[in-house]
Amino acid sequence: MDELKNIIRDVPDFPKKGIIFKDITTLLSDAKSYQRMIDSIANRYVGQRIDKVVGVEARGFIIGAALAYKLNAGIVLVRKPGKLPAETFKKTYDLEYGTDTLEMHTDAIKKGERILIADDLLATGGTMGAVVDMVNSMGGEIVECCFMAELEFLDGRKKLPAGKVFSLLIF
Ligand code: 5GP
Repeated sequence: MDELKNIIRDVPDFPKKGIIFKDITTLLSDAKSYQRMIDSIANRYVGQRIDKVVGVEARGFIIGAALAYKLNAGIVLVRKPGKLPAETFKKTYDLEYGTDTLEMHTDAIKKGERILIADDLLATGGTMGAVVDMVNSMGGEIVECCFMAELEFLDGRKKLPAGKVFSLLIF
């Protein structure tokens, strides 16, 4: 996995001074790396029943949609406010650089459905924690929260359900 880690680019002072941003576009734009990243995550769930993959706007869509396709699951979108057309749940949460709000359609998940949640990167865990709360409130059964990468030193896992977090690449 070191090749995949090394292809992710560090961008200093983005989006604010002092933050070193992990730029995953360099991995996504390399065909072999993108395929290897998706296959490596998907293989963990092959043979398990996954009804829906929940992808978090925007980079989580790129991972979530490919995983859903491979796992014969539906894809559910978690979006920034005002983008989803029908009735939504809203959740405001703290993130590394301030606060934000996410929305999901209230009918996107049915009680008892087995849900895999996907995002590109786990930092403080605020974003995924908000998504976990929304999925739980709809009665979804969370199989796991999966990430392409995790910034381990920020301890984001602590905000997520114990034993239900998988990150392919650990920084
Ligand atoms: P958290 O809520 O865990 O603090 O932040 C994770 C969210 O912010 C994810 O949706 C992720 O896309 C974004 N994020 C925060 N830091 C980075 C970073 O260094 N690189 C990338 N690609 N995304 C980040």
